[in-house]
Amino acid sequence: VNIDDRIFTLKYYVDEEYVHLKIKNPKICKSCLEKPCLSFCPAGVYRLDRQGEITVGYQACVECGSCRVACPYLNIEWDYPRGGYGVAYKFG
Ligand code: SF4
Ligand code: SF4
Repeated sequence: VNIDDRIFTLKYYVDEEYVHLKIKNPKICKSCLEKPCLSFCPAGVYRLDRQGEITVGYQACVECGSCRVACPYLNIEWDYPRGGYGVAYKFG
């Protein structure tokens, strides 16, 4: 089973008012050459736009917690979504 298949078994409760993921300083991303966030996120939350800026599609986050530790510059602010929001795991 690959992660893309599994994502279909997730249900999201998107919180439009509170963004639980943020890039702290976009300038640091510009000078981060490897941009590991483009690959370490299993949900593809981090993308590079045409201007070379990192965009954060926080709605797709599966709350794995990787980005808190995997950004070499600790440039991602990560919090759990507010109660009742975020991803719900369904098994089976
Ligand atoms: Fe920015 Fe961190 Fe991604 Fe590098 S790994 S581009 S510093 S968020
Ligand atoms: Fe991606 Fe996991 Fe970070 Fe969410 S917590 S943005 S799924 S790496």
